[in-house]
Amino acid sequence: MDIRQQGMSKLIIDVRINEYAMRDENPNVPWTPAEIGRDVRACQDAGASTVHFHPRSPDGGPAHGPEDYAQAMRAIRSSCDLLVNPTLGQITRGGTLERISNIETFAGDPLLTPDIVGLDPGSTNIDAFDPVKKRFLTDDKVYVNAHATLIAFIARFRALGIRPNFACWSIPFVRSTVALMEMGLVDEPGHVLFVHGGPGQLGAHPATPEGLRAYTEHLPRDKRIEWTVCCKGGNLFALAMIAIATGGHVSIGIGDYAYPELGYPTNTELVEEITRMARQVGRAVATPAETRQILGIPSRIR
Ligand code: ZN
Repeated sequence: MDIRQQGMSKLIIDVRINEYAMRDENPNVPWTPAEIGRDVRACQDAGASTVHFHPRSPDGGPAHGPEDYAQAMRAIRSSCDLLVNPTLGQITRGGTLERISNIETFAGDPLLTPDIVGLDPGSTNIDAFDPVKKRFLTDDKVYVNAHATLIAFIARFRALGIRPNFACWSIPFVRSTVALMEMGLVDEPGHVLFVHGGPGQLGAHPATPEGLRAYTEHLPRDKRIEWTVCCKGGNLFALAMIAIATGGHVSIGIGDYAYPELGYPTNTELVEEITRMARQVGRAVATPAETRQILGIPSRIR
């Protein structure tokens, strides 16, 4: 198969470098700004064009203070050209407005303003389930995202020139994304992340071809939407193959899953593997500059 003639855009490889992953499984998870800077440089050289990161303390804890955020952003921006997508802190942050306080603190500083920010257009239970012991590790974690919050964030991001990436955990999230586009709040192309979950992540679609197809079949035909696959707590490669062959994009990293079946690789090794798969089917990999064109995100630096 050679998919060069099928009118697909080049493949955007996003690397999800750390999330809240500790190093007890995969020791390669970057935490400090210096580690993050080295990791993203190597990932860009391997074919990545965007990065999603969580600021972390030196012992791996969540670190959501403005200086933690600023140091990680500076490390990334001084090391590479990747489009940057920082976390809004999920449930480890406090109230609604606090979730964008770091972005507000540094608004006006091009170096510290992200290109993309992930928003979840819906709410879901995110307790991890232990499928061996048959019990939930927690039983009260709900990721709450009211439409009022989303609409306020989208308006603020639009004023700052930041593009939202809509992380969809199930089809209702896709429907809300489309509604926000129809309200005129989001420019085309829409940019969605189809979240899948491994055996312990029940809040998202299963990481199966059927789980992905359910998402893609619910995309509207009359809107341009660039879609990406990721998998929390499970192996993404089967879905990555389908996305590469059918016009989607890939978001992978050891932040989501330690990949014991690959010998606990680095983020760079995962990106290299996705680049190799794309080459095998004749789909070119987008550079950061080409990714800006595909997603309609101009550079505000330099
Ligand atoms: Zn994250």
